[in-house]
Amino acid sequence: RVRKREVPCRHDINILTPCFLSIFESLVPTKDEIVKQEQLLFSLRNLVTKEWPNAELHLYGSCANSFGVSNSDIDVCLAINNSELSKLDILLRLADILKSGNLQNVQALPHARVPIVKLMDPVTGISCDICINNLLAVINTKLLKDYAQVDKRLRQLAFIVKHWAKCRQVNETYQGTLSSYAYVLMCIHFLQSRKPAILPCLQGMKVTYKAVVDDIEYSYYDQVEKLHNFGAHNKESIAQLLWAFFHYWAYKHDYTKDVISVRIAGSISKHAKDWTRRIGNDRHLICIEDPFEVTHDLGRVVDKFSIKILREEFERAADILQYDPNPTVTLFEPY
Ligand code: ATP
Ligand code: MG
Repeated sequence: RVRKREVPCRHDINILTPCFLSIFESLVPTKDEIVKQEQLLFSLRNLVTKEWPNAELHLYGSCANSFGVSNSDIDVCLAINNSELSKLDILLRLADILKSGNLQNVQALPHARVPIVKLMDPVTGISCDICINNLLAVINTKLLKDYAQVDKRLRQLAFIVKHWAKCRQVNETYQGTLSSYAYVLMCIHFLQSRKPAILPCLQGMKVTYKAVVDDIEYSYYDQVEKLHNFGAHNKESIAQLLWAFFHYWAYKHDYTKDVISVRIAGSISKHAKDWTRRIGNDRHLICIEDPFEVTHDLGRVVDKFSIKILREEFERAADILQYDPNPTVTLFEPY
């Protein structure tokens, strides 16, 4: 491991860039798909506001953070202020309202970690999960979308990493591997740490955006159109970055000591966060701080078995990019 930490990237890595870019292009949703998502949101809004005129429906997750691949489900959040109904009652009532519309497989899941109503729209063929008042997810969706607009290499890198994670079956939180959201944060942190940096730390800049959720204020700099040239001094290609990303997680990250944080664009010690030992189900074997819910470790789902699988997959990916004759194929071979 010590030896591999120091290996330089293969000298001809850039010949892989066109191929990785075409993989990225093939994953991006079509205009037609985006239109269908908007149609579905429009009809859901119609149904919901008939019952609750002041309620709002927000898109969140990958369909709104610009990291969604083609044919994804959509995530919707119902924002509602209703003191008469409990959250459970709202969920059940929502399911009834949706059943009265032209929607299929409407199902309330009140006991899920995040309670939702699931449905399928027969007109567009799109599936959808609706949660209630999960406004922090709407805010982190905006943060990710804003980062994506600063430098196009973030979206390219994250799409390829997410695609790799799906192919290699390490994007399954119920099996102890990482969520898509965690992988995007790992990509943002990585690009913030390049020298020169490719991404800034939006939460460390002048505040231009504020939102209040449950009496707590969340804020950051969101005038990203002014940051278009931020990463221009760094000329690294997507192939170089992909290699360096996997190389970092395979050989350089200090799993025993470090927490990665997009909020500060660097690492914090596990000791400082008191994330050094297992507490309940939180094992902290790989630590990724949520940018807003700072006590929340997105690596908490990882256990002593899945950490081994994850690290072996990072090493496999780094070694393929280094030595394999056909890396753009081998990297994505199904697990
Ligand atoms: P995919 O394309 O795989 O569906 P996604 O970004 O939609 O990717 P989900 O796992 O469906 O990922 O999560 C949807 C959204 O919910 C995320 O974008 C994020 O805003 C929020 N979210 C998911 N997991 C967490 C978490 N552990 N903590 C906080 N927010 C989360
Ligand atoms: Mg999703």
